[in-house]
Amino acid sequence: MKFSFVTIFKELVAPYFEASILKRAKDANLLEFEFVTPRDYSEDKFKRTDDYAVGGGAGLVFTPAPMFALLSQIREEDSDAHIVFLTPAAKPFKASDAKRLSKKSHIVFVCGRYEGIDERVVEEFADEVFSIGDFVLTGGELPALVMCDAISRFVPGVLGNDESLDVESFEGYLLEAPSFAKPADFNGLFSPSILLKGNHSKIADFKKNVSKFRTKYFRPDLYEKFLKGTMR
Ligand code: SAM
Repeated sequence: MKFSFVTIFKELVAPYFEASILKRAKDANLLEFEFVTPRDYSEDKFKRTDDYAVGGGAGLVFTPAPMFALLSQIREEDSDAHIVFLTPAAKPFKASDAKRLSKKSHIVFVCGRYEGIDERVVEEFADEVFSIGDFVLTGGELPALVMCDAISRFVPGVLGNDESLDVESFEGYLLEAPSFAKPADFNGLFSPSILLKGNHSKIADFKKNVSKFRTKYFRPDLYEKFLKGTMR
């Protein structure tokens, strides 16, 4: 699977793929990463990609011409490329989106800066538009990395143990139960004793109950859905 990042700050994005799981996946040719800058498509003599907003107002906006040229080329080279824009003014990105998008062959993240990207670019090229939460960041690079990481985990072979995906938070609307590493007794702080008794069905019941309490406390919105929905 290929990810392209449209960004004027490749140096913020590229190092993320030089360590840990995503580096291993890249080295194993499971994932491919590409970085493209609209500056290379700017006809301005200073390679500018931003301009003042039509109608005034504070701040600059990505001007349409370089983005149109860049994204047209991507579309021309790969008609399956799925183009995703990042902005706080969009639907929230969810685990279910990560799973669905992991089936695509090529995802292109268009990272905004300044006040954002000229809306004509979004209307022309967006297959989807996402927000990663109810806050405003300085740029789309972190949101793109967040989404890329979450999507990559669902690409077969990227995680050592694909089974671990089934018990993660947000599967079936519940948050995962807490985990405890060995030793069971750390300076008199004990992990729950039921985890030591080797009864796997009791351990599963215990984890499920803690999972429900945790979800009810931290995410009553999800707990409602769990009650109404699958009740897994
Ligand atoms: N003026 C915009 C607004 O109020 O909706 C915010 C622009 S923000 C300063 C600059 C860029 O950061 C955006 O174009 C977007 O790419 C990215 N960004 C910031 N917060 C984000 C979020 N919560 N989710 C996704 N992208 C975000």
